[in-house]
Amino acid sequence: MMIGIPRERQDGENRVAIIPSGVSTLLEAGYEVVVESGAGSAAHFTDDDYRHAGAIIADDADALYRQATVILKVRAPSSEEAQLIQQDATLICLLDPWFNQPLLEQLAGQNVQAFALDLVPRTTRAQSMDVLSAMAGISGYRAVLSGAMALPRYFPMLMTAAGTIHPARVLVIGAGVAGLMAIATARRLGAVVEAYDLRPEVKEQVESLGADFIEIEVPESDTTGDSGYAKAQSEAFYTAQRQQLADCVARADLVITTAAVPGKPAPKLIDQEMIHRMKSGSVIVDLAADKGGNVDGTVLNQKVDVDGVTLVGHANHPSRVPVHASQLLTRNITAFLLNMTEDGRVIPKLDDEIVAATLVVQHGSVRHNTETRENP
Ligand code: NAD
Repeated sequence: MMIGIPRERQDGENRVAIIPSGVSTLLEAGYEVVVESGAGSAAHFTDDDYRHAGAIIADDADALYRQATVILKVRAPSSEEAQLIQQDATLICLLDPWFNQPLLEQLAGQNVQAFALDLVPRTTRAQSMDVLSAMAGISGYRAVLSGAMALPRYFPMLMTAAGTIHPARVLVIGAGVAGLMAIATARRLGAVVEAYDLRPEVKEQVESLGADFIEIEVPESDTTGDSGYAKAQSEAFYTAQRQQLADCVARADLVITTAAVPGKPAPKLIDQEMIHRMKSGSVIVDLAADKGGNVDGTVLNQKVDVDGVTLVGHANHPSRVPVHASQLLTRNITAFLLNMTEDGRVIPKLDDEIVAATLVVQHGSVRHNTETRENP
């Protein structure tokens, strides 16, 4: 089977699904590999690097899609690009299936078999394939750097001949994979860090990184779903959160919000009143900007000023670290593909929980249920 690695076409996307060192793993597994010219250039991998690794270079997307029967991508293709995919081909990428139903219908109509890497289960066996965790780690790291660059002050405590500089105070809201990496990065830069998550079980992890865990009183509710993710909460719950987090937000120099509920818009955790109580020069980095934002006033992909407080709404932080993001994606996607490879062919077996959870389009129909947001 011929694996195709197209160039990513979304604005600002610098990552590539497979870097040259991953090509040899795919060849060893019995596949052939074709790479679109320039696919790795934004991540600093040249066509020659891919040639030396044993791949064929296709001049453009038409030539790539004509040859490839297994497409490995980072982001979902546009409808136009998807039309180039051959009938009976397999597509593996971050499909964002909750918000991409028309694309799934189109792929079904074209008889393409599609896997959504967003749905890789959070299990020990699937850890090496867990694209969301790999990318969330980069987002948490990069969010701190963006915040530090936007702050008009130092991060660490410094004792200088010209006086003592007090360390920056950082508040991280949402202590999942991205939040924990943000805490670790902010601590390494010397900040005093507080963190909050609605899942009380993360307290120990937060404290082990040297941050203080904030505990608040909220209406009693089931906060954690079966998969370890947060569950959506009532408006009364979110109101109680905002009221009690307001003082912590007001005393922070940098707030990083990462709160997400899979398949749902991001919960609103910071309103305008809370922003107005922050010191001038403070910064909020909203990592949920592409899901509607945790902060009232975040503008997607922009840095805006609200009364002296900077709101950073960049999406796709991993694309700003394209070398290592692509390296981690290569490992994740290769492990995912090899899990269902036999003699150089993709043989998906639905009794494998990873295959069953991620296979969203097969035999001309969409398996992903947008109501329950799960596969059957
Ligand atoms: P995520 O990106 O969906 O959410 C980010 C964080 O936001 C989560 O910690 C969530 O609890 C928090 N959050 C949601 N609503 C909130 C609110 N209203 N207020 C405050 N915080 C809120 O989640 P994620 O980081 O991808 O993963 C979450 C958890 O899944 C991990 O911490 C871990 O327990 C589990 N996980 C397990 C594995 C594994 O076992 N292999 C891998 C990855 C993640």
